[in-house]
Amino acid sequence: MKYFSLNNREHTSNFENAVVRGLAPDKGLYFPDEIKKLPASFFQSIENLDKTEISFEVIKAYVGDEIPDSALINIIEETIDFEFPVVEVEENISTLELFHGPTLAFKDVGARFMAGSLGHFIKKGNLGKITVLVATSGDTGGAVANGFLGVEGIDVVILYPKGKVSKIQEKQLTTLEDNITALEVDGTFDDCQTMVKKAFLDSDITDKRKLTSANSINVARWLPQMFYYFFAYKQLKWKDRKLVFSVPSGNFGNICAGLLARKMGLPIDRFVASNNANNTVTDYLETAKYKPKPSVQTISNAMDVGDPSNFVRVLKIFRNEHSALKEHFSAYSFDDLQTKKAMKDVYEKTGYVMDPHGAVGYLGLQKFMESNPGYYGAFLETAHPVKFLDTVEEAINDKLAIPDAIQGLMNKQKKSLQINHYKDLKEFLLN
Ligand SMILES: *Cc1c(COP(=O)(O)O)cnc(C)c1O
Repeated sequence: MKYFSLNNREHTSNFENAVVRGLAPDKGLYFPDEIKKLPASFFQSIENLDKTEISFEVIKAYVGDEIPDSALINIIEETIDFEFPVVEVEENISTLELFHGPTLAFKDVGARFMAGSLGHFIKKGNLGKITVLVATSGDTGGAVANGFLGVEGIDVVILYPKGKVSKIQEKQLTTLEDNITALEVDGTFDDCQTMVKKAFLDSDITDKRKLTSANSINVARWLPQMFYYFFAYKQLKWKDRKLVFSVPSGNFGNICAGLLARKMGLPIDRFVASNNANNTVTDYLETAKYKPKPSVQTISNAMDVGDPSNFVRVLKIFRNEHSALKEHFSAYSFDDLQTKKAMKDVYEKTGYVMDPHGAVGYLGLQKFMESNPGYYGAFLETAHPVKFLDTVEEAINDKLAIPDAIQGLMNKQKKSLQINHYKDLKEFLLN
């Protein structure tokens, strides 16, 4: 499979190079040259296929023969060795729970697949050692640390803002050791992000170390997110209804994977991008003008993004036509008060506990279905509610049970290095 840069169609790459580089040399995002339709027979008999078989069918064309089938199947099996249940919450509304992986967030899928792919290419021998450098506002760090733990040839360096991630998230980042280092930055997420970007452009560092990023612009993180839309379809197909999926969105990687799955033939009629107060895309749908904004802080903080990096891919899927996009894509925004009220109302009515991101997804789905009767809907639960313990317990006015795995994690010793300035990061990377 060939990929091209969305900044310039002439800049092409194979899968390996796109995974190793992350971004094209002209800073464009990579996009597949061809989107293959899956045959009707695949959807007719999907209930006879297991998760691995489905995933292999979906991803094979994007990897081509750059990873042999047997190795690709191993990577897939390690990526998806947990459950992806669709749980009915109320009449006509289900949730697709994506939080049963090791760090309790959907990012486990992309992070593990990327770690497996990069690990495979390193093992082949000509890349040398690679450093994955990543800034996190919470969930990315844990998923990347866990996914890359122990992968031969890769060092992982994670920058996180001191005191600004949840307690569980911090433990997930700082207790792994081995090839993972957590740098605790006295500053904000934006400060972490700025330092990472600077390091990528600093030739003192890049002459000495091969750096790559592990954020959602990487095709090896983006594409495997298609898998669970197919798993969900397999569970909902018998309903024989027109389907709408609502995706709590920040950088729009997850929803963009869903749209690509649709383009491959997956019968999901409609996608709803559910946003918090960061409403750049909601505005775009109304005005047809894309105006990035500074991000604002909310209780669904993994979606506090004012200029979503994957939105160019969403547009590309619809040939950059605003009208084509609007036919199958809606977007709505909700504030924190509405989000907390949704968590409370759903808990009181049904006993189901949503995390703040899932709650935004629920609100978007509900809003779409109010004015579009006849659909069956699913919203994605992108993180386990215990990851946002204080917010959730306050909203539902009740205590949550803490899973055993989390209890164990909370007893582990935190290990991090404090850094304050870019020069500290540079010194660390040079030594
Ligand atoms: C990262 C994240 C999101 C946003 O996903 P995108 O692919 O960036 O749109 C939503 N919810 C949770 C819990 C996340 O960690």
